[in-house]
Amino acid sequence: MSTAAVKAATPRQLTIGIDELKRNVKGQVIAPYDAAYEGARQIWNAMIDKRPALIVRCASTADVVHCVSFARDTGLPLAVRGGGHNIAGNALCDGGIVIDLSQMKAAKVDPVFRRVVIEAGALLADLDAATQPHGLATPVGINSTTGIAGLTLGGGFGWLSRKYGMTIDNLESAEVVTAAGEVMRVSAIEHPDLFWALRGGGGNFGIVTRFEFRLHKVGPQVLSGLIVYPLSEAKSVLRQYRSFAAEAPDELAVWAVVRKAPPLPFLPQAVHGQEIIALALCYAGDPGTGEALVAPLHAFGKPAGAHVGVQPYVAWQQAFDPLLTAGARNYWKSHNFATLDDELFDTVIAYAGKLPSPQCEIFIGALGGATSRPAPESAAYAHRDTRFVMNVHGRWDDPAGDKPGIQWARDFFDATAPFASGSVYVNFLTADEAERVHNAYGPNYARLAKVKRKYDPGNLFRMNQNIAPE
Ligand SMILES: Cc1cc2nc3c(=O)[nH]c(=O)nc-3n(C[C@H](O)[C@H](O)[C@H](O)COP(=O)(O)OP(=O)(O)OC[C@H]3O[C@@H](n4cnc5c(N)ncnc54)[C@H](O)[C@@H]3O)c2cc1C
Repeated sequence: MSTAAVKAATPRQLTIGIDELKRNVKGQVIAPYDAAYEGARQIWNAMIDKRPALIVRCASTADVVHCVSFARDTGLPLAVRGGGHNIAGNALCDGGIVIDLSQMKAAKVDPVFRRVVIEAGALLADLDAATQPHGLATPVGINSTTGIAGLTLGGGFGWLSRKYGMTIDNLESAEVVTAAGEVMRVSAIEHPDLFWALRGGGGNFGIVTRFEFRLHKVGPQVLSGLIVYPLSEAKSVLRQYRSFAAEAPDELAVWAVVRKAPPLPFLPQAVHGQEIIALALCYAGDPGTGEALVAPLHAFGKPAGAHVGVQPYVAWQQAFDPLLTAGARNYWKSHNFATLDDELFDTVIAYAGKLPSPQCEIFIGALGGATSRPAPESAAYAHRDTRFVMNVHGRWDDPAGDKPGIQWARDFFDATAPFASGSVYVNFLTADEAERVHNAYGPNYARLAKVKRKYDPGNLFRMNQNIAPE
């Protein structure tokens, strides 16, 4: 029976179609009655509880093509799982098929031409593990268990971005399976409209099975670490941070985090569990040069503790992993900023004083530098004027924490909105922010809708921050 015959999708036809899919794909096909099902439907954010009809752990691009055809022909909803990290939970769907890329992680580095080709199920840790033995890296996020696919398709930024740009600014080419089931190589000269849309269009246009990135000389040792101040000094620290960030060279990224202090060994025990502001830094250049540049950060007040030194880049890439493990309940809100106001600092400090759980935090990530130089229309990601991204991470373990935690995050978001630029990073949108999707794509929305109509007129790829075909 061909998958096309399943279109009417009676239960019997669906069963036959699934049998055929199982014969066609090399990867594992997991149904609700299989032992692997419960594990396979878990993603990073434990607040997401969806029950797909089928999860296919694809082994190859050919498997992805079979799954796309199956979804198109049956009319079943289709979701794509890269690293499964996205807060909104669109890596899963209820009653549909999940194309799970987690088994496709192979990476090949060309150290001479400084390129890596990596499959779309890879995590950031897999990318760093492949490239760092050559002393090479490309800018990605700050939590090594994040998937390269979702991160790249939304834009991608982290410690190296001020020096080397967004992740998309380093994307050379990609292999994509379209809604029609066609396998395409896209680059600046091959299907350039699709290549443009992939770089910030958030998974709306096809399933990427492979990325090719440019690499840069990084590490393998970098100057990096944390400087921690008590929350009582936060206003002064934040003001100095603002001035410091305005003058910092591209090599230096400093992010600010307010939260309760985790039991870090370099902090006195009395500080553990107390509200603090931490400056997290990474210098993407010669550590000797960086030492002098970061010295002023130690003198913003009287630090409660500091742990800054030369360490492997891969270790710094994993430094926040223990605070951001999978399996907790997460509700996030996010704003972009062109400037940081004093009143914003007051609000941050006020909400840091009423954190609803010890895992909640407010993160200010510094962009600018190379992320701000491309024109807003050069790729789908439009927010080149963003100098800071602020994320409020609502996070707890007990479902009883949902109501107060969500309320805290929403209240903080509303209170800080007057100081924000109005745009938002698509990768930080939660499931209940459909009204912000236009703000995420900004002035590029109309052009994206045209590309969507060309490559996915039926909106097969709609489990995402969706762009309707024009
Ligand atoms: C703890 C944490 C830290 C983070 N830190 C950063 C950071 O420092 N910098 C940053 O830029 N972002 C960061 N993010 C956001 C991150 O970029 C997004 O969550 C991203 O979507 C994760 O990608 P994923 O593949 O793991 O997610 P998934 O949940 O697997 O995928 C997200 C969405 O992307 C689409 N998608 C995934 N794979 C494909 C594919 N192969 N083809 C087409 N579409 C696909 C689908 O629509 C899917 O729903 C962080 C997120 C978390 C939870």
